[in-house]
Amino acid sequence: VKRDDLIGPGMGGNKVRKLEFLIADAQAQGADRLMTVGAGQSNHARLTAALGMLFGLPTDLVLGGRPSPQPSGNQLLAKLFGARMHYPGTDDWAELESAQQQLAGQLQQAGHRPYLIPIGGSTPIGALGFAAGYDELLTQCAQLGFRPAAVVHATSSGGTHAGMLAAQACYRADGLDAPDIVAVSVAKTADDLGIHAAALARSALDRLGLPDIPIESAAVKVDGRWRGTDYAVPTSAGDAAVLAAARSGALVLDRVYTGKAFAGLLGMLDDDHWPDMADIVFWHTGGQPALFAPGGCPPCTVPELSHRA
Ligand SMILES: *Cc1c(COP(=O)(O)O)cnc(C)c1O
Repeated sequence: VKRDDLIGPGMGGNKVRKLEFLIADAQAQGADRLMTVGAGQSNHARLTAALGMLFGLPTDLVLGGRPSPQPSGNQLLAKLFGARMHYPGTDDWAELESAQQQLAGQLQQAGHRPYLIPIGGSTPIGALGFAAGYDELLTQCAQLGFRPAAVVHATSSGGTHAGMLAAQACYRADGLDAPDIVAVSVAKTADDLGIHAAALARSALDRLGLPDIPIESAAVKVDGRWRGTDYAVPTSAGDAAVLAAARSGALVLDRVYTGKAFAGLLGMLDDDHWPDMADIVFWHTGGQPALFAPGGCPPCTVPELSHRA
């Protein structure tokens, strides 16, 4: 398990890797504050607030849902880190983005230079954090003499997947061994997310000045079987995976992202998707604060689970 849940700061998660690059870009552009959008329990919004605070960039968050008199989970943490929260009263992504544009306009008129980060931080620059992340993983594996067949992770806005695809393409272009990447969709359809991630990976490579390195369509693997009816709507397989991880490894997964991705991994093991005894890396992308929001934890009614080694 690649533990981005332990990456810190602000309780960690995959968005830290993207924000490392996005905040450098904000600083290079002379921005004086950050702004982003997300669902009510957005991990990305919480981490933008945490890192904005650390880098002296006051942060505005435009969030779905409604404000709560008793904020919990990610919202509580974002408040703790000092972010200003805005609730336009919609859960529609396009409407949230346009509310962000409107707020940015107001701040610019008041003489500020806000740096706008789209949903999930999934820009070509944000994706570079995961190109570096994939390289970090392979370096660690090489040090341990460990050759994983695949890396499995949750995908929603596509930046994590895209960054890894970009780095994988570099390894393979050099004739080096590089594990498959299996992205388990927790948001859109597998086709939409695959096309989006491939395009974002292409832009990331172009930005690196590597236009000749191809993103092969066969390398883009998105498994759309585990999302259930919609983003953030729990599934029984996802909930079973949250319980299994908690009760076999004291590994804390969440219902929105990592639980569904881990359900995908367990499902693929059951299908004999990989050769016997293949080593697989589960990339834990974080998300544990959402467990402490209303409805964030699966009901623990199952008395006991079979333990997986
Ligand atoms: C955002 C997020 C993801 C998905 O990453 P993307 O780059 O948006 O696809 C996965 N897991 C958690 C916990 C997240 O917060």
